[in-house]
Amino acid sequence: MKAISDKIKSIAAGLFDAGKIDVFIGWEENHPDYAIRPYIARSKADLEHMAFNQYAIHNSSTYLLKLRDGQERIGIVVKGCDSRGIVRLLEDRQIQRERLYIIGVCCPGMKDPLLAIKAQSGLVDVKEEELAVKCQNCLVPNPVIYDELIGEKQPPHMSGERFAKVKAIENMSYDERYQFFEKEFAKCIRCYACRQACIACDCRTCIYDEMRPQWVGRETSTSDNMMYHLVKALHMAGRCIECGECERICPVDIPLMLINNKLAKDANHFFGPYEAGMSYVEGQKPALSVYREDDPDDFI
Ligand code: SF4
Ligand code: SF4
Ligand code: SF4
Repeated sequence: MKAISDKIKSIAAGLFDAGKIDVFIGWEENHPDYAIRPYIARSKADLEHMAFNQYAIHNSSTYLLKLRDGQERIGIVVKGCDSRGIVRLLEDRQIQRERLYIIGVCCPGMKDPLLAIKAQSGLVDVKEEELAVKCQNCLVPNPVIYDELIGEKQPPHMSGERFAKVKAIENMSYDERYQFFEKEFAKCIRCYACRQACIACDCRTCIYDEMRPQWVGRETSTSDNMMYHLVKALHMAGRCIECGECERICPVDIPLMLINNKLAKDANHFFGPYEAGMSYVEGQKPALSVYREDDPDDFI
């Protein structure tokens, strides 16, 4: 990782020197090493604070939303999942490709800093080599869009059948499924961390922040919680790039990827072949943003 970190800094320094970028998005070194955090460098001197290590798990593309309305030329380092986030933003016309210089890192899998904190406090037992949950089932460790690539290409990190957990839910009766999700969503404290961490949640005004009219109650009642997750799911259909950040950062461990994986499976089955954020083609739109006369509608 040290070699990758040094290489990223050297490329970024060259980009600042050549006047090709105004800012650079990556990670800031911290102590202990699992406290590394996303960082926006605004000069070559700022690169001194930057690093890349086994805990650089956050989706770096999310930070492009902070710069979407500016004119800065942006350098950014991405792993496989982060690069799919860039495709999401390009397709959603939230950023222009010509503003970006993308350094891709072939990702060997990351560790979860939140688990490291819990392990440090004795709350969980984590093996030294254990990858983050989201990295144990990663289809796309290699960036799908980049200007420069670092590292050896990696095979997918799949520890089981991709949709095994979704199929287990599909095999339940309607009542069982309802009870399962009712129990999970009852735990939700509506902190909206899953929204804030989500690259596909790029609306400028979120229905959940509006007060007049107030579309959804702000209490953490089970029915309002279910409405939040239902609306978010509808907005993610065909758009979620399965980065897993929402589930990783949920403070009450709600298995949000069950929903996101189901959406990916069904978008591909009904409207595919389609996987969100796998490649960028100018003018390309997400599967559910286009209409075909023969689109399936039996399930409506
Ligand atoms: S999900 Fe894949 S690309 Fe993203 S951090 Fe994990 S292994 Fe790397
Ligand atoms: S992060 Fe978890 S607790 Fe917070 S709003 Fe999302 S699902 Fe609810
Ligand atoms: S819904 Fe979750 S997995 Fe999907 S893009 Fe958003 S944060 Fe990533």
